[in-house]
Amino acid sequence: MDYDMILLRYGEIAIKGKNRSRFEKAAYHHVKAVLAPFPRTNIIKEYGRLYVELNGEPFQDVIDVLKHIFGIVSLSPVKRAPSELEPIIETAKKLMQEMNPGPDTKFKVNARRAWKAFPHGSQDLQHLVGAPVLREFPQLKVDVHQPEIELRVEVREGSTYLFSEVIKAAGGFPLSSNGKAMLLLSGGIDSPVAGYQALRKGLEVEAIHFHSYPFTSERAKQKVLDLAQVLANYAGRIRVHLVPFTDIQTRLHQSGHENLLITLMRRAMLRISTQLAEERKAMAIVTGDSLGQVASQTLGSMNVIGRVSDLPLLRPLVAMDKEQIIRYAEQIGTYDLSILPYEDCCTLFVPKSPATNPNLNVVERVEQSIPELEQLIAAAVEGTEAIILRAGGHPDDAIVINANKGKTEHKEQQEINHNSDVPGADSTHGDWF
Ligand code: ATP
Ligand code: MG
Repeated sequence: MDYDMILLRYGEIAIKGKNRSRFEKAAYHHVKAVLAPFPRTNIIKEYGRLYVELNGEPFQDVIDVLKHIFGIVSLSPVKRAPSELEPIIETAKKLMQEMNPGPDTKFKVNARRAWKAFPHGSQDLQHLVGAPVLREFPQLKVDVHQPEIELRVEVREGSTYLFSEVIKAAGGFPLSSNGKAMLLLSGGIDSPVAGYQALRKGLEVEAIHFHSYPFTSERAKQKVLDLAQVLANYAGRIRVHLVPFTDIQTRLHQSGHENLLITLMRRAMLRISTQLAEERKAMAIVTGDSLGQVASQTLGSMNVIGRVSDLPLLRPLVAMDKEQIIRYAEQIGTYDLSILPYEDCCTLFVPKSPATNPNLNVVERVEQSIPELEQLIAAAVEGTEAIILRAGGHPDDAIVINANKGKTEHKEQQEINHNSDVPGADSTHGDWF
């Protein structure tokens, strides 16, 4: 397929009122980030639209990436012609060739003369282009009311844009236009889907993963990074916090309340996540919980677990069925990774009969009987390692930024400086590029 550009249209929600320029800026930054693996592409910003010039980059690969720009409702591949009648007609025929119309296809030309010096008006142009296209494709029938193919011709001063196909895109809100949240990311099927939904709703997402190395293997950690890489390919970039959970888990296990272990672990995870959220200025925590799926996801469990955090707990999958979640996972490309075998820290000392309706008082008393719990939680936060994954990258070349907290600030600063050459980078976007 031979196209010159791709046109991106914003959703209506995204362009309303005073948020418009903020939304458009966010979408621009998002496109810029996911196109990093296609260095010849060039983005053109226009009122209410974006164009991506391909300059020889592979059309289908670029479309596949752009389809997941949040806040964009549809895309159209565009052919460009010089703004002269003959080349416009020739290009219209080529475009129709790509559309490969079947018998009795209803069709119309919709022309717009934006460049007033062009010698033919919009109405004239519709006929001047339509007639030769009809001659070349006798299977077409003109229908101006309900065309199956609408061939759009936009005459501009520099060149004329021709397009027809409309490809559905992700919709939602532009990335990072609704604030930042921390995503609890395990190696399962659900949490990566929850992460995608959060991104789609305009949240900037940082992932948190709890590992119990050496009880859980290096491979299990790699699996989570591979899943996070898929999210990074959508988001442009994702920061993953890897939290050492072994000591806490071991200590909670020693407390002897086997049926409450999952509840206790989840509360510890949520406390740590809340502290990390504060550090990273995130305003919510996203999980892959789906009501009733397992013991820790009953309403009773959610209630007791959720009390340790005063941040909003967002559960995009709460009312979804497993089959629906699996379909999403397949669509976003995480399913095959998620079903690989792995050990999660929570499956380690998995109790035979986990409480489905834990008692808050009992849970609090158990926690109070472990005086060093606060310290263990602080140590886990302190020992957290962060990794940055970028679109198109491979988890192996991820940047580790705080294996040692002393060095962190310095490296992180370099990271930010390095990226400050992104056009339009500004404080409203924090440091997500
Ligand atoms: P998933 O497919 O997301 O693992 P699940 O059905 O296995 O979900 P649980 O293991 O009960 O569900 O976990 C519920 C949620 O808790 C997960 O969706 C995730 O958000 C969070 N979670 C569980 N384990 C971890 C972990 N090791 N690190 C970070 N978050 C976790
Ligand atoms: Mg899980």
